[in-house]
Amino acid sequence: MKYKRILLKLSGEALMGQQQYGIDAVRLMQYAEEIKTAAATGTEIAVVIGGGNIFRGVQAEAFGLDRVQGDYMGMLATVINSMALQSALEKLDVNTRLLSGVTIQRVCEPYIRRRALRHLEKGRVVIFGAGIGSPYFTTDSAASLRAIEIEADVVLKGTRVDGIYTADPEKDASAVRYPDITFDEVMEKNLNVMDMTAFTLCKENNLPIIVFDMNKEGNLQRLIAGEKVGTLVSMNTANAQPSSATGTLQPAV
Ligand code: UDP
Repeated sequence: MKYKRILLKLSGEALMGQQQYGIDAVRLMQYAEEIKTAAATGTEIAVVIGGGNIFRGVQAEAFGLDRVQGDYMGMLATVINSMALQSALEKLDVNTRLLSGVTIQRVCEPYIRRRALRHLEKGRVVIFGAGIGSPYFTTDSAASLRAIEIEADVVLKGTRVDGIYTADPEKDASAVRYPDITFDEVMEKNLNVMDMTAFTLCKENNLPIIVFDMNKEGNLQRLIAGEKVGTLVSMNTANAQPSSATGTLQPAV
């Protein structure tokens, strides 16, 4: 096992599977299975899930709503996703705790750092809901901040693409994947890894990020075992060149 403690970031959109909105039951169980297998290796796992499959704060204006109100709606959307994942994990007999950045007493624990650490030490999968608990942030920022707070070894950003490419591989067939890249290069090349707030938090705290395809079975476990999967973003890399393989998207499973 390469990592003692990881923070796994999943986007809300990924939970939709093939649907246009909401949660896809098959995808949800798939993610729960992946997390269960990874947790069985003894690595401590914290999870942050987005809410984009239900509501995003930026949509508020289109609805004629106040932005801050919209952001809170987005945060509550992440709690709904977190509750779904918690339940799916429990179905598989994985011990979990859901800690929320916005207090929802009847549903989950409030986020208290020391509690989170204790849960992790006891081998429970900790899910952080409601992002940071403040508007104008994203769940990527929550993932970076919580990862730093709990001293995770790495942020694993599970996406439907198998890493960081020279261009958007969904639009540009000649895009090539980086096996490794530095924080500075990501900024120089203006590559879209996370929003700037989230990215800067990782950079300033020397917290590596791995972008990988969460929809490929076993990837999470392979990463934890130390196999090279996806793209590693870190301070220094000996090999920050794109791989020679042309970038082909892994189809969403
Ligand atoms: N959000 C917020 N503060 C946070 C985390 C999330 O205001 O700390 C809101 C924000 O409006 C965001 C929404 O919750 O649009 C859903 O999260 P996000 O868009 O990051 O989800 P993802 O794109 O990962 O599904």
